[in-house]
Amino acid sequence: MDLIARDRAFVWHPFTPQKDMANPIAITKANGTILYDEQGNTYIDAISSWWVTLHGHAHPYIAQKIYEQALQLEQVIFAGFTHAPAVDLAEKLLDIVPGNCSRIFYSDNGSTATEVALKMAIQYWWNKEGDYAAGQLPKRNKILAFKNAYHGDTFGAMSVSDRSVFTLAFHNLLFEVVFIDTPTAENIAALQTTVQQAAPEIAAFIYEPLVQGAGGMKMYEAVYMDALLHTVKEQDIICIADEVMTGFGRTGKFFASDYLQHTPDIVCLSKGLTGGTMALGATACTDRIYEAYVTDDKLKTFFHGHSFTANPLACTAALASLDLLLQPQTLNAIEWIAAANKHFITQLENAFAQQTKPYRNLRTLGTILAFEIAEGKDEYLNNVGTLITQLNLAQGVYMRPLGNTVYIMPPYCITPAELEKVYATINQLLTNWNK
Ligand SMILES: *Cc1c(COP(=O)(O)O)cnc(C)c1O
Repeated sequence: MDLIARDRAFVWHPFTPQKDMANPIAITKANGTILYDEQGNTYIDAISSWWVTLHGHAHPYIAQKIYEQALQLEQVIFAGFTHAPAVDLAEKLLDIVPGNCSRIFYSDNGSTATEVALKMAIQYWWNKEGDYAAGQLPKRNKILAFKNAYHGDTFGAMSVSDRSVFTLAFHNLLFEVVFIDTPTAENIAALQTTVQQAAPEIAAFIYEPLVQGAGGMKMYEAVYMDALLHTVKEQDIICIADEVMTGFGRTGKFFASDYLQHTPDIVCLSKGLTGGTMALGATACTDRIYEAYVTDDKLKTFFHGHSFTANPLACTAALASLDLLLQPQTLNAIEWIAAANKHFITQLENAFAQQTKPYRNLRTLGTILAFEIAEGKDEYLNNVGTLITQLNLAQGVYMRPLGNTVYIMPPYCITPAELEKVYATINQLLTNWNK
């Protein structure tokens, strides 16, 4: 049997309806932004393989570092032991993560990074105010989150995510969350009131800063977010910035939180953390959080960990990725991609100025560009996304719209010619849309 037939016989793919599923494409190798399939077709990976690839695929520098580390120490239990890659990476991350974070807790993906953050924040209040002997819970034990949020697929992460098609089967099992809209000029005053009223029972606020990724690359403005964070902080609510998608330059700054005056108490990292080479999650926190766990009472220990916590290969990959990220050429790349996105928006708006626009809400922040196809409802189950993926693949460009939300988020090594080709594909798609 060939690979596709064996895949169809034995494998179950993520986020993929299984009935009438199109054959997956077998990718045999990748280099820079280019994916190669079995037939020798090439595709520009315009979405960084689900937002993880920063410096391009199969990067020789990262590969070499992983190889050297694999010959040295591939894995060791992280309770009672430590190793240089984990400590080096913690130091380097703390240099760049937003706010005054002073500790790193490792896990293995974005969902676990948010689970760790939620548990850390909830147990913080337990450690300070809970009383096991008296059977007394802390008053603050609910989470505040945004509507339309996405924080991962495990139960805690699902609970603080939007009640959507992703979570439908589990609604009665998800814990109660206070959901609010993302802030705008119009609603900020009302949001502040809601937060003030709910505050006595709120342990923490989790948010995707400035861009809601899986919710459809929805963007909201820093000034209103700062106004909201001001109130949240005033109410002594722990702020958790989920930078799993927005981290490591995606929004034009190292972190989306760098656009904000108010800094988080906890930061979640994954996806681009290893440059997209290995699974790794990290949750950073401030002294305030950490200190609540430094106590004689063993019941106040943070009883959480994963088999592969701080895997040395993954930490090494992350260190190598940070080396590359901090190079001037990478920082320049992030800047020119951001400028090119703005320019492309102007071009599109001009091109479609005289006609009914086939798109809605064209927007960009840093290296991310997104719009909705003006057809049907703005929702994940809108089928145009699947069609667009097919049309673009035929042009040699890979995108995977979220419903009718088309977006790009390229690796920083994309060449001007490749990015032009991505834009040309979008342009052609829109030009032909109503024909
Ligand atoms: C992707 C994502 C997650 C979940 O990360 P996984 O590694 O897929 O579990 C969490 N939060 C945000 C903001 C994400 O974009």
